[in-house]
Amino acid sequence: MPTKLRTVVLAGVISLSPLAAGAASAKKLNVVASFSIIGDFARQVGGDRIDLRSLVGANGDPHVYEPRPADVRTIAAADIVLVNGLQFEGFLRRLIEASRTKAPVVELTKGIRPLKSTEQARNHGQSGHHHHHGDYDPHAWQAVPNARVYVKNIADAFCSIDPPGCNAYETNAKAYDATLSALDDEIRATIATIPPHKRVVITAHEAFGYFAHEYGLTFLAPEGVSTDTETSASGIASLIRQIKRDNVAAVFVENITDPRLVQRIAEETRSKVGGELYSDALSRSDGPAATYVDMMKHNVSTIRMAIAPDIP
Ligand code: ZN
Repeated sequence: MPTKLRTVVLAGVISLSPLAAGAASAKKLNVVASFSIIGDFARQVGGDRIDLRSLVGANGDPHVYEPRPADVRTIAAADIVLVNGLQFEGFLRRLIEASRTKAPVVELTKGIRPLKSTEQARNHGQSGHHHHHGDYDPHAWQAVPNARVYVKNIADAFCSIDPPGCNAYETNAKAYDATLSALDDEIRATIATIPPHKRVVITAHEAFGYFAHEYGLTFLAPEGVSTDTETSASGIASLIRQIKRDNVAAVFVENITDPRLVQRIAEETRSKVGGELYSDALSRSDGPAATYVDMMKHNVSTIRMAIAPDIP
């Protein structure tokens, strides 16, 4: 049987050189994404040419993720590792070292304009614990123009390690980029319907700095740009005063963090919990934010429904 023979011959080629020309159609590119949102971008670009694993899965918190032994094996078997960068993945360096991987580790925020972390200023002068989380806010994916840069970087990286697939990667990336461009327009149009004085909301941690900067909302949060910071009683008290003073329209819990702190703040300020926002992870596949596009749409419509429900 010719078909079977061909499979056997290809298998022989694969064991010598996994990515040699001609073998690429038989062996999929082994892609590891650090967390679920990057995993979705990789899926959009790689399609059926890749096998994909995300280390931190749905509803997981990458800030405090503790790698498992299986993750070392996953990285060791990777052809390429896609990460956010800007010191987001604190767990990554140990994992890369332990796996002894030779795979390229690609930082997808390369080429975006990073925002300074506001946490630096806020912690300045405080005694006691000081956690260093980098000078920049890592949550760049929360602005769609940045997501388009991530996608371009993924296509470039896939092309460089799998040239026979480059056409497919670039075609996929271009189609997805058009979807992202339309999503960006839709978000701007939705935010434009909210009166500017109502555009102040509370979330659990400072994950929405890029969203705020891009789309013109103000987000306040009891926790900083990482979820492993300790919230101080004085910080929460001053946030509560600010909520009362500034007539904050709504507070939101996040899918990756414990909702109790935000719920307490809502009670003390008699504000309502407007729903759940997806910050650093997608939902499970049957949830409202199974893809990046669905996540952004869910967040924007949740915010709008909570703070401007009467506006058509
Ligand atoms: Zn975060």
